[in-house]
Amino acid sequence: MSVLLQVEKVEVVYKRVITAVQGVTLSVGERQIVALLGTNGAGKTTTLRAISGFLGLDDARVTEGSISFGGERLDNRPPHEIAGKGIVLVPEREKVFPNLTVAENLIAPVGRGGVSARRQEERVYHFFPRLAELRARVGGLLSGGERQMLAIASALMCQPKILLIDELSLGLAPIVVGDLKQRLAAIRDELGISILLVEQSAAVALEIADYAYVMENGRVVLDGDRARLTGHKDVQEFYLGGGGGERRSYRDVKQYRRSRRWYG
Ligand code: ATP
Repeated sequence: MSVLLQVEKVEVVYKRVITAVQGVTLSVGERQIVALLGTNGAGKTTTLRAISGFLGLDDARVTEGSISFGGERLDNRPPHEIAGKGIVLVPEREKVFPNLTVAENLIAPVGRGGVSARRQEERVYHFFPRLAELRARVGGLLSGGERQMLAIASALMCQPKILLIDELSLGLAPIVVGDLKQRLAAIRDELGISILLVEQSAAVALEIADYAYVMENGRVVLDGDRARLTGHKDVQEFYLGGGGGERRSYRDVKQYRRSRRWYG
């Protein structure tokens, strides 16, 4: 498998003083679906924003390490330049324009480019037929799942080589998430694009991703392919709800085990 996106020992600092991500290394191959897992504040969104160039809008910078795409360095480049290379972000918030119709939302990122924009629009309806039915409805009246579909479809309009999706399942019903996962798999299979998705639910991520990284406190603490992570005791205990307790951090689980070993 050839590597498309390579993040190498990246450090991100907000407002010149707050270090949010440290030494993060990850890669995404061609046609690969990769998940970034972790609890609140682990640094997942920061990593996606570093890759997509939106960090600059948050008064933050990549201060160490490198981000390369197809061998070309892209760290700290502006978002429009990065999007132009084929890296397109589906953000966690403000996914759609609430006052524009579905069709207008789709055209917005590419402009009314005549035949090619129309053809592109029909192509995304192939993956999201529900949006074709809703094409005249304004974004603000869509359900959460329809809004997520529209956000992904709008990103597809830009003909990405890799889609970065921030929080695929957040706030959505399991049946809607199941449907979205199938559509993403079809997008990867039929269009051959790669996907890097941020997920709080390991169960969701490990059903769709070929490979996953677990982040905690700004660092990658674990990574592996789906089989390895699904079978990993710590992931089962903490992220897949096998521990029977409240949500604890990966580090807490480690400390808990150690204490059991010493005192138990
Ligand atoms: P969540 O699921 O809650 O979005 P996350 O894993 O995506 O969590 P980030 O949002 O990347 O985590 O946050 C990582 C760290 O960076 C946190 O400690 C957070 O407080 C800090 N951070 C995020 N955005 C900013 C900002 N605009 N200014 C300062 N610090 C920030």
